[in-house]
Amino acid sequence: ADTPTYDLVVIGSGPGGYVCAIKAAQLGMKVACVEKRKTYGGTCLNVGCIPSKALLHASERFHEAGHHYAELGIKVSPELDLPAMMSHKDKTVKSNVDGIAYLFKKNKVDGYIGTGSIEAQGSVKVEKDDGSSETLSARNIVIATGSEVSGIPGVDLTFDADTIVSSDWAIALERVPETMIIVGGGVIGLELGSVWSRLGAKVTVVEYLDKVLGPMDGELSTSFQKLLVKQGITFKLGAKVTGVEKHEGGGASVTFEPAKGGDSETLEADVVLVATGRRAFTQNLGLENAGVKTDDRGRVEIDEHFKTSVDGIYAIGDVVRGAMLAHKAEDEGVALAEQLAGQSAHVNYDAIPSVVYTAPEVASVGKTEEELKKAGIEYKVGKFPFMANGRARAMLATDGFVKMLVDAKTDKLLGCHILGAQAGDLIVEAGLIMEFGGSAEDIALTSHAHPSLSEAMREAAMAAAYGKPIHI
Ligand code: FAD
Repeated sequence: ADTPTYDLVVIGSGPGGYVCAIKAAQLGMKVACVEKRKTYGGTCLNVGCIPSKALLHASERFHEAGHHYAELGIKVSPELDLPAMMSHKDKTVKSNVDGIAYLFKKNKVDGYIGTGSIEAQGSVKVEKDDGSSETLSARNIVIATGSEVSGIPGVDLTFDADTIVSSDWAIALERVPETMIIVGGGVIGLELGSVWSRLGAKVTVVEYLDKVLGPMDGELSTSFQKLLVKQGITFKLGAKVTGVEKHEGGGASVTFEPAKGGDSETLEADVVLVATGRRAFTQNLGLENAGVKTDDRGRVEIDEHFKTSVDGIYAIGDVVRGAMLAHKAEDEGVALAEQLAGQSAHVNYDAIPSVVYTAPEVASVGKTEEELKKAGIEYKVGKFPFMANGRARAMLATDGFVKMLVDAKTDKLLGCHILGAQAGDLIVEAGLIMEFGGSAEDIALTSHAHPSLSEAMREAAMAAAYGKPIHI
């Protein structure tokens, strides 16, 4: 059969790939998107953002019912039905991935299920499960193949489905483990650790750095960790894992030593979740056929217009430099589609929020205090605790605070860091102000509905702009 000629063939249908494909089609291009999974949506919709949030939501309700409802005057004795909770998660995933298939149809994007590889510039081969293959010719190719779980440097590891697991399986355990060790105190480890801790597991987090959440603002990460300790999670910080071993009779052990050197310690658990990070995925993609260069970390090298070392081949999302976040991949997908349609577009990497969907949530945009100090930028801090917010009191959600960092001279908003209920939604306001180059005073002068958690944003902005909030 004749192979169709496309303006654009996207390899990978995660938030980077599917968004780029849809946007390009909306701008008039003839587009195909190739995906090797059976469903579209990538890591994010199938095994990442979406299933983890379904479990975080459900497990948080379970925990609340057991711990906070009585204070609200509701008597219940919650009982866990894990299969039903998992089925809620599976249904959530299904409706989201089906949604992408629908959007492809609606926008006339041709979806191909199969493994894509670049045969040469302008040519993508699709190998299907039934052994057949097809070659698509493309004016432009976008690599959006995302990332895969990485292991622990220097440690021999074999992942399985129930004992030494990656996040792919930690969202699908069949029973609640009595004990669980999480290697890695980053976003994924703490989110999934929270899920299983709320459902009854005794969770210990072993983290190499002296703080959780890596690059997040130090004050935020310390306050957050204290709250997790109150919730029953144990931390071993500054600990370098040297071995993970599966036991024949079930369970596994994790051996670690102080990162600065010293005696090693071994802990046993029913399940070990290794959540040490992810790396760019480019296996069997044929990068070498076309001469596409990668960097020292295996990521596809791109210039500021997402172009690889080869004309007509672009790359976006987790497979390139920058934060491994779904919305970063989406932003790049939209910007690239616009560029390919001849428009000028760019991504403002200084205003991309990061959110941890625990309880309370953690959200951050822009510079941290540590970064501002390092850059020698003079700044002012405006802070406001949720303890002093009426709505937060009504919700029994008084933990945490909003912290705004502003330029000492101009009052321009440089960063915002929130620990508290719905922080992930509140942070958008700070990101928007940063997009417009606005100041703390702009937020302080904007009417915020009362009573709402967003008033804490306004009060922190007042603290930064005028040195004083009203309600504290
Ligand atoms: P991916 O989503 O990884 O998609 C790439 C797709 O390409 C995959 O489906 C893959 O099968 C396919 N592919 C690869 N090679 C080929 C090939 N040769 N041919 C055809 N198809 C191919 N980010 C957030 O912003 N918020 C969150 O809450 C969040 N939670 C997460 C929770 C977990 C447990 C995990 C693991 C990740 C989470 N992330 C979250 C990160 C987020 O999932 C990624 O940043 C995002 O998926 C990156 O999108 P992408 O399009 O670059 O790649």
